Amino acid sequence: MLKISNLHAYYGTIEALRGVDLEIRDGQICTIIGANGAGKTTLLKSISGIVNRTGLITWDEEDISKCNSLQTVRKGIVHVPEGRLVFPGLSVRENLEMGTINWHGFFGRKPYDEDLEKVYELFPRLLERKDQKAWSLSGGEQQMLAIGRGMMARPKLLMLDEPSMGLAPKLVDEMFKKIVEINRTHHIPILLIEQNANLALEISDYAYVLDQGKIAVHGPADELRTDPQVTRAYLGAH
Ligand code: ATP
Repeated sequence: MLKISNLHAYYGTIEALRGVDLEIRDGQICTIIGANGAGKTTLLKSISGIVNRTGLITWDEEDISKCNSLQTVRKGIVHVPEGRLVFPGLSVRENLEMGTINWHGFFGRKPYDEDLEKVYELFPRLLERKDQKAWSLSGGEQQMLAIGRGMMARPKLLMLDEPSMGLAPKLVDEMFKKIVEINRTHHIPILLIEQNANLALEISDYAYVLDQGKIAVHGPADELRTDPQVTRAYLGAH
């Protein structure tokens, strides 16, 4: 599905990714773990076309290395960035409608009601709050909204950057269940970035460890969970 080879990314003279190879197969949840500053967010931004990068990125065998963010979304690769970034002054429903902009043009067709229904089914809390302004939502609700808005773009690949960040432990568990539901029930492959590496590996099929802009280790998630190098450095084992 998504295949990346020899990806380099730059912020001016800083090289944040230094030759990354990665593959996401259909139906998978794939996690990227790594320390702060390892390049995880940059990897998602590179796929989305919002940072300066070189290398080959193919999507269903099509070269998308030169695509910008709008072109990438139109291909079904949807990025839910770190930090929620909802539109605070818009209602929940209006925020969700913004997710369809890339599909239909700003003044184009109304979003399909069935898309909204799917999001409300996934996150019933958003239906309860549909007329409430986004700024007044709790952190967990804003995160649901950010993911819901991503779902409105009808993703064929959903990229989630730190969806559990800042959530209380109980909400973290719920968020992980929702990610599994999106993957299994809606059949959407997921590329996940998580600080919470233990939980992320539990729900993932495959995982990559990024270290200073390079892939240090990769493999089936259940193998990485018991890999001594990974457990020592990233899973809190001693
Ligand atoms: P974290 O877990 O802290 O979010 P990360 O693994 O997502 O970290 P990135 O945000 O991708 O890491 O950053 C990778 C490297 O690129 C870091 O050294 C960072 O300082 C640098 N970097 C990121 N964004 C910029 C920017 N806009 N300008 C300059 N350097 C940047």
